Amino acid sequence: LIIPSWNQFCTRIREIYEKCQNIDDGKVADYIPQLSRVDPKKFGISICTIDGQRASWGDAKIPFCVQSVSKAFNYSVAASELGADLVHAYVGQEPSGRLFNEICLDNNNKPHNPMVNSGAIIVSSLIKNTWNMADRFEHMLTQYRKIAGGEYVGFNNAVFLSERATADRNYALSYYMKENNCFPNSTNSLSEALDFYFQLCSMEVTCETAAVMAATLANGGVCPITEERCIGSRPCRDVLSLMNSCGMYDYSGQFAFHVGLPAKSGVSGLLIVVIPNLVGIALWSPPLDKMGNSCRGVAFCKELINRFNFHNYDSL
Ligand code: GLU
Repeated sequence: LIIPSWNQFCTRIREIYEKCQNIDDGKVADYIPQLSRVDPKKFGISICTIDGQRASWGDAKIPFCVQSVSKAFNYSVAASELGADLVHAYVGQEPSGRLFNEICLDNNNKPHNPMVNSGAIIVSSLIKNTWNMADRFEHMLTQYRKIAGGEYVGFNNAVFLSERATADRNYALSYYMKENNCFPNSTNSLSEALDFYFQLCSMEVTCETAAVMAATLANGGVCPITEERCIGSRPCRDVLSLMNSCGMYDYSGQFAFHVGLPAKSGVSGLLIVVIPNLVGIALWSPPLDKMGNSCRGVAFCKELINRFNFHNYDSL
């Protein structure tokens, strides 16, 4: 067993969870009604080791949309199918130092990285881009379910429709990218490209699902529940690098400093954090801090590093 004293480990994780329950900071995202109506008190955590030991606390079986956490898995799938070289012909690896949805490109006129909206829209437009929309959506649902080892993955159509109805910024971003030839040649409809991106943001998971997905990343791309390879080993390494430098919005540098682990968060209050070769952790608490990260999620990660030597550079 990768974590031999499992019960002791779980007790200490539960203590951190309980400590974080006292935090009442932050504000639930309110740019669409489906997110603003979520109960701010909901708080779930689930963990899954690379050998499939699992535990959960709180609201770990309640579905919510993945939002920007999808960016990590969309990149993983794209790079596994197309190779890193092709994907990075369209998108860089550099933190943008700008807001996640800002209208800007890097010096090569490419999106800075796959974890900001511009990069994520381009990455999703690369996936099975000769297929029709229905097949592309179904393909991604299948890939998510594989990465999640068969745990619940659904789709929230209300979130999708709301995202699409309030998409001015993402449209502006996409027209700007079109002007700069950022899209692959096969993209002939911006609205289809954006629909696909919004559909992926609107995929639904639970903490239990997201923990297995994070554990697949911790395990080099092989799902620890099914032992099926779903992400190539190089794309897995690459996505963890990107999560480490760009996964936490404009807090990414500070998160890498204080916590030292690859992570990705989204506006629904989901935060996944990966301890390579050990465990995947999913936290869900909707109230967000000013950067857009879950308050309790970030606090949990900091407390985890206080109590364990999981920081990337703790072992020196
Ligand atoms: N759906 C959001 C958008 O594209 C992304 C949300 C997020 O950052 O989690 O604007």
